[in-house]
Amino acid sequence: MSEDKNKNLNNIRGDQVTVDESTGSITSDYLSSAKIVLKKLNNVSKCMCLAKWYYSSINLTTGKTQSCYHPPAHDILANELVTNSSALHNTKYKKNQRAKMLKGERPAECQYCWNIEDAGDGEQLSDRAYRSADFFSEDLLQEAIDFGAEGNPSPRFLEIVFSNHCNLKCSYCSPHQSTAWYEDVSKNGPYRLHDHAHNDLRGLAWLGLLPSPEKTKKYVEAFWAWWPELYKELKHLKISGGEPLLDENTYKVFDYVLQNPKKDLQLMLMSNCNPPQALWDKFLKQIKEMAKQNSFDHFMLFYSLDAWGNKAAYVRNGLKFSESLHNVKEFLESTEKTSVTVTSTFNIFSVFSFKEFLEGILELRQKYSTDRQKIWIDFPTLGAPDWLSIKILPKEYAAVIKEGIEFVESNLETQDTRFKGFKDFELEKIKTIYSQMISNEESDKTKKLRKDFTKFFNEQDKRSGNNLLNVFPNMKEFISQIEAQEKL
Ligand code: SF4
Repeated sequence: MSEDKNKNLNNIRGDQVTVDESTGSITSDYLSSAKIVLKKLNNVSKCMCLAKWYYSSINLTTGKTQSCYHPPAHDILANELVTNSSALHNTKYKKNQRAKMLKGERPAECQYCWNIEDAGDGEQLSDRAYRSADFFSEDLLQEAIDFGAEGNPSPRFLEIVFSNHCNLKCSYCSPHQSTAWYEDVSKNGPYRLHDHAHNDLRGLAWLGLLPSPEKTKKYVEAFWAWWPELYKELKHLKISGGEPLLDENTYKVFDYVLQNPKKDLQLMLMSNCNPPQALWDKFLKQIKEMAKQNSFDHFMLFYSLDAWGNKAAYVRNGLKFSESLHNVKEFLESTEKTSVTVTSTFNIFSVFSFKEFLEGILELRQKYSTDRQKIWIDFPTLGAPDWLSIKILPKEYAAVIKEGIEFVESNLETQDTRFKGFKDFELEKIKTIYSQMISNEESDKTKKLRKDFTKFFNEQDKRSGNNLLNVFPNMKEFISQIEAQEKL
């Protein structure tokens, strides 16, 4: 192997690998370090997760927070904010969950991780390992122990939502997260499923989820009051939405970062990459300027995409797939110190578009990942709504994932295809999806969920002028199975 190749293999931060010289295979340090971090967490308690202390997801439109995006969001109480501006993150509720972890009790809200840790042979790594590894250090683990349950740690990873303004109406989204959804159900009413109304504004209002301009203003002000203090320790900042490129606070953060460079900052934005052209151009201009001024260490664009081509557009109602892909390519070609993570919130449609998705990723990597990894992928599995989850598929459909596994295995990254192929930890995540799917059981609940699936998409097709089977002809057999079941 040439010296140049060695340099590329070993010197890319965030993408370090270990080479087995005898076989030529490579192992990502990301995977092995997540395994090491898990052992260290387990030494504190089998339920310990640093995300509960240092990872915060805050939605300023609903006034709710989560320790990562898996547990249900809980309320940020206005009275807690009066004496503690970090109560946007360090809520009393979250402190109780930390206490459970320290005592070795599994917080019920983290069931997403416990399901993965308990599935199959019990060897699967959950996000407890990956999220903690994102910012792990021995000192930070000790700091969390010293803070205990009651302290007020400053997040190292913050995901923030300023607004629910969005131009898309993704199938699994809802009116409190997307104004396009809000407009649809305001005009056409909720979706009638087998025993309830889905995305019903009255229900969402009753749950306190519907944003109001006054409520949002109050939380956005609390955020900007906390921001200068918070910014000092922050290592990862991710702006989500809605579509964050439609909101002025996004550009205000970029301006702040430009004025207050932070050399260790990982700045991130979750986008559908399909906003009006003028906003896309404004965004690109700011990223280029920040990179030129060394205002951050790295900028990661998270491209939300659960399927490929017209199949992606079907799931993400309103998406112009070609435009969004064109924008992503423009971003890859014209910006420095940046990369793209394609986030596939893995749902039933992802299964029926899996091969095309993997081929699309491979093509992007082969074109753009020349001397470092510029295209990443992630596969969080969709939990809600459950009638869109992979759990409703008969276990035979796991065969599609198996084919995907074989495709990934035959295109794994090697010394000679560095940055071009798939990574071992990506393969692990796909195998976890496979383990989940072969555990799918037939039950009355599954049958009801399948009924909801067809009810929802029949109605959505009516409202949008789409046709499920025209876009997904490969779902014909599954839909026929549901129809046959309903006749019984
Ligand atoms: S859901 Fe998992 S990653 Fe998130 S806080 Fe709980 S244990 Fe940690």
